Amino acid sequence: MNSRQIIVVGGGAAGFFAAIAAAEQGSRVILLEKTARVLDKVRISGGGRCNVTHACFEPREFVTRYPRGGKALLSPFQKFSARDTVAWFEARGVKLKAEADGRMFPITDSSQTIVDCLVSAAQAAGVTVRLNSSVQCVVKNAAGQFELTVGDEKLICDRLLLATGGCRAAAAGQLAASLGHTIEAPVSSLFTLQIASPWLASLAGVAVTAEVSVPGTKLRERGPVLITHWGLSGPAILRLSAWGARALHDLNYQFALHINWLPESSAEAIQQEFQARRVTCGAKLLLNVPLFPLTTRLWEQLVAASGVPRDTRWSALSRPQAQALAQQLLRTEFRVTGKSLNKDEFVTCGGVKLDEVNFKTMESKLCPGLHFAGELLDIDGVTGGFNFQAAWTTGHVAGHAMAA
Ligand SMILES: Cc1cc2nc3c(=O)[nH]c(=O)nc-3n(C[C@H](O)[C@H](O)[C@H](O)COP(=O)(O)OP(=O)(O)OC[C@H]3O[C@@H](n4cnc5c(N)ncnc54)[C@H](O)[C@@H]3O)c2cc1C
Repeated sequence: MNSRQIIVVGGGAAGFFAAIAAAEQGSRVILLEKTARVLDKVRISGGGRCNVTHACFEPREFVTRYPRGGKALLSPFQKFSARDTVAWFEARGVKLKAEADGRMFPITDSSQTIVDCLVSAAQAAGVTVRLNSSVQCVVKNAAGQFELTVGDEKLICDRLLLATGGCRAAAAGQLAASLGHTIEAPVSSLFTLQIASPWLASLAGVAVTAEVSVPGTKLRERGPVLITHWGLSGPAILRLSAWGARALHDLNYQFALHINWLPESSAEAIQQEFQARRVTCGAKLLLNVPLFPLTTRLWEQLVAASGVPRDTRWSALSRPQAQALAQQLLRTEFRVTGKSLNKDEFVTCGGVKLDEVNFKTMESKLCPGLHFAGELLDIDGVTGGFNFQAAWTTGHVAGHAMAA
């Protein structure tokens, strides 16, 4: 054991990984958690299953899933990647499995397995975990040590890790700010879109593969979209919200959204299909023969929204009607009127400014001995396990660097 005292502030994914890494290297580590329970977000994550990471083992590809922070994360991922996360948990008795979309979960499908593993690894490494210990302020003394105020108590350490989580409330970044760091303004990421459209609401529960885009911006995503009672959700919408977190915030979440319901088709291909149907099923009602792969319910609403009467037969579909319908299929326009938090996963965009941190060690460039990890940094990923991987990796790198 070396004599250096390390304090980790925050008992979440990043704090635990850092504390364990440092203690396993022989450092004395105290972890302070302000609430009565550690790892709360891990427990509720992934709908109670904990989407630990993503089965993408090439760091250069992995970093493309971070709307903010991807470039900075490349060097840490080269030290500790998703592959290392899988091996880390496996070495401690927890096997992970990948689902078809790449998300990785414990084979038990229970986040408690991950919580238990982290708690026992911390215990085995000799980390002292203190609950109900909120750090109110930190100062650096003349000897270069950190003095922390926790209630009536003063604690002193040589190396300090701040892993206090997302800066949803500005106060969350206050400890980092008090030590000289800039906090990028917090805004939501990974949210769903509110749209007041009765015909859309009548389709609540329908899932499609579509392309969504925001005119006037570069925001465009293709993938599963879920229609809900209040608007739109699903992976493509969450990705759009993550990449557009700042731009959509600046629009006050009021903007036009285009949906292409047939992203694999072109206007010409659709007109050719219409023409084929005029010949092969001309006597049938338009409503009864939806264009593949649209469901009957969605097709009915799109036909109605394009202004084509319900009783139109394929043979009677006029050229202007065909154009209006094709336009509706390729570019339905909705008005977004607000956002809702996604219940399965949400993160904050914003936090400690990245160019003030050395990503080789996660140490502050402004305050030697101070390190950062996890969502407190201005890093956020799309859904799929990328946010936890950023926490594991930055925690692991910070823990090793503090103990070195
Ligand atoms: C509902 C939900 C589900 C999610 N599911 C997933 C998922 O499946 N996969 C994924 O990759 N990501 C998921 N995320 C995102 C992921 O949970 C976070 O990115 C991750 O938890 C960040 O870890 P962290 O350690 O940086 O912060 P946190 O987990 O937020 O931990 C920070 C800790 O610091 C403590 N703290 C704060 N201030 C102080 C203080 N002054 N003194 C002492 N302690 C303090 C807090 O109480 C907290 O325990 C989900 C998020 C939510 C909200």
